[in-house]
Amino acid sequence: SESRKYTGIVEDCCCDYETVDALNEEALHPTLQELVTTPFFRYFKVKLWCNCPFWPDDGMCRLRDCSVCECPESEFPEPFKKPFHGLAADDLMCQEGKPEATVDRTLDNKVFRGWIEVDNPWTNDDETDNAEMTYVNLQLNPERYTGYTGPSARRIWEAIYAENCPKYPSGEMCQEKKVLYKLISGLHSSISIHIASDYLLDETKNLWGENLELLYVRVLRHPERVKNLYFTFLFVLRAVTKAADYLEQAEYNTGNLEEDLKTQSLVRQLTYNPKLQAACPVPFDEAKLWQGESGPELKQQIQKQFRNISALMDCVGCEKCRLWGKLQVLGLGTALKILFSVDHPNIINQPLQLQRNEVIALMNLLNRLSESVKFVHEKGPYVERIMER
Ligand code: FAD
Repeated sequence: SESRKYTGIVEDCCCDYETVDALNEEALHPTLQELVTTPFFRYFKVKLWCNCPFWPDDGMCRLRDCSVCECPESEFPEPFKKPFHGLAADDLMCQEGKPEATVDRTLDNKVFRGWIEVDNPWTNDDETDNAEMTYVNLQLNPERYTGYTGPSARRIWEAIYAENCPKYPSGEMCQEKKVLYKLISGLHSSISIHIASDYLLDETKNLWGENLELLYVRVLRHPERVKNLYFTFLFVLRAVTKAADYLEQAEYNTGNLEEDLKTQSLVRQLTYNPKLQAACPVPFDEAKLWQGESGPELKQQIQKQFRNISALMDCVGCEKCRLWGKLQVLGLGTALKILFSVDHPNIINQPLQLQRNEVIALMNLLNRLSESVKFVHEKGPYVERIMER
């Protein structure tokens, strides 16, 4: 077997790389893979129109492709039908024009009910904001190579990284900034890994497969990007286990009793996982953050920055990238909300309340991160050996 490059405790976390890989392989990944196919977790409510508040000149957001606008009303889950407002062709924006970038909006009739709609202060997008929201079947729209690249994509990543954390009066950078940076970098690694693991190798033959060189160039060659991926995975995993009681009691009602019971049981397998509790009971220690007197203001500032990052997703000029960008940023926002809205002595907290969409985003994000960790664990040593020869 290959010798390990990453050993010891994941920075700022509470478990080591070996344990994370073993847990992911044995317990987390198989459960998550099944969970995200359930009717409750495979639909995501999202506003896919490109409505960029930052760069109105962005050409990527001007390209049109009306094929995505065909969304027969009959495909919408019955309870979510709204009066249909016909849109003029001119209002239909935001396509890069590549078929692989287009979101498939096909839905079936599975419906989920019983969730309240509440505001999430961590994100710009809210389920409560119903205008122009559509439902997307995530299973039909895997995150993978879309051909979205160039200055438009780079500008967004740059802007995301430029969101800065306030400085303490001492001039010191706060720990929270590091956390936010690492979360974004870990997510970025995960997106790059999905591009590399499902790449359009030959356009004319429509041949898809792994691009291991890309995996190396974008991620493996930069060990801190791999480390940030593990950090983000543990951070989100901690949020899921911290919200265990809430998630277990939530309703996963889609009108299909058999499926819904399965969903419930899979959620329980994940949140009360004996292997996880034995090997890594606290994947991340959020109690170390938000200490000191400026806790509440700092939290508000960071919340604002995170909302800006969330708003930047409206500038992503490829529909499928926007879908997964929005989902995963909402998932991160939900993890932040869980970890920093509850049980802090300096902050008056409300009891935890999650939107249906937040829970869907959280679990789908965890699944994506789990896939990325698995891919890096399985392919990393081989690819590094070949590329560094
Ligand atoms: P980029 O990935 O664009 O990176 C830009 C710069 O950021 C790099 O030069 C480097 O300095 C820095 N950087 C890169 N990775 C990290 C990291 N992990 N941590 C810290 N810094 C880093 N494309 C698709 O094909 N499919 C998708 O689903 C998809 N989703 C996207 C979602 C969002 C929100 C965004 C903004 C882009 C998405 N893209 C997607 C585009 C993709 O992420 C890249 O931007 C594109 O492939 C061009 O890559 P690049 O090599 O120029 O580097």
